Amino acid sequence: MEKYDVVIIGCGPAGLQAAIHTARRKLKTLVFGRPENSALFRAHMENYFGLVGKVSGEELLRAGLEQIRRFGAEHRAEDVVSLEVAPEGFRVVPESGKEILAGALILALGVTRRHKKIKGEAEFVGKGVSYCVDCDGFFFRGEPVAVVGTGSAAVHGALTLSRLASEVYLVAEDLEVSAAMARELEASPVKWLKARAEEVLGQDTVTGLRLSDGTVLSVKGVFFEEGAKGALELATSLGVALDPENMRYIQVDRRQATNVPGVFAAGDVTGPPFQVAKAVGEGCVAALSAADYLSEKRRAAKA
Ligand SMILES: Cc1cc2nc3c(=O)[nH]c(=O)nc-3n(C[C@H](O)[C@H](O)[C@H](O)COP(=O)(O)OP(=O)(O)OC[C@H]3O[C@@H](n4cnc5c(N)ncnc54)[C@H](O)[C@@H]3O)c2cc1C
Repeated sequence: MEKYDVVIIGCGPAGLQAAIHTARRKLKTLVFGRPENSALFRAHMENYFGLVGKVSGEELLRAGLEQIRRFGAEHRAEDVVSLEVAPEGFRVVPESGKEILAGALILALGVTRRHKKIKGEAEFVGKGVSYCVDCDGFFFRGEPVAVVGTGSAAVHGALTLSRLASEVYLVAEDLEVSAAMARELEASPVKWLKARAEEVLGQDTVTGLRLSDGTVLSVKGVFFEEGAKGALELATSLGVALDPENMRYIQVDRRQATNVPGVFAAGDVTGPPFQVAKAVGEGCVAALSAADYLSEKRRAAKA
């Protein structure tokens, strides 16, 4: 397994600023994530210190990626699909399946901006509609289910469910995943249907899903899994605590440390205000805290 001092998940402003600092501390740094999925990618900004006039978010991100490479950090434009605590740090599993061992982790995954709900979806939440395969998949063992989504979270979710459910349909007009993940899907029993989900059907609980081509799937569960694996799912799988007020953000202290030693978080994922200035500030602090954590760990190992 390849080893890195620090693995940063997310290549928006928080993750890239963190990488600048860890790389300049001479820590072997790897950043995962697709820049086009950053909230900044399609935005224009005019309220950031020192940047006069409207600045393109896409250009800033490209410059940030160039900057981290110059300082020696590596970047892989793929999503992370699972995280685990390992004896010497953390096991990071990306879409390609090539596992990485990280000494410390910085979670800079941003927040998921949910699409407009489809007909029937809100009505059946908790009655067959779910947003988390890892949390609810087990309740659908031996039953037919559908997964809706085009990214790595949907494909990973469908593959996980194929080991539990009687039948798994993946509903996606197109897929936005790595070639390795697409191959894994093809070799699996998951049935990929190139259509859009239009209506969740049911009475007391879900009984079906109507698609844009008129097909009605007889399913007991419909999982909406958008984009990449959600920040909260990845974080909680490590035992990271969420903010107790609304359970939507990762709880951190002033060093951007979570309750799990060696795991830090920065940017939108730690809560509002959703601003680049806050994201880069937290990214910087998280990186320096991760560097201190690793030095302390090395000192303790030598003593
Ligand atoms: C339309 C719009 C306009 C905005 N305008 C402004 C503005 O004028 N000024 C301002 O300060 N802020 C603005 N913002 C907010 C700003 O863009 C965000 O606050 C900022 O991008 C947050 O940075 P971040 O690094 O925390 O998250 P993001 O930039 O969202 O980056 C998150 C990263 O995590 C990656 N990721 C997520 N899940 C995974 C996974 N499982 N594996 C690997 N990678 C993953 C994504 O691919 C992405 O690269 C705007 C936002 C929007 C949407």
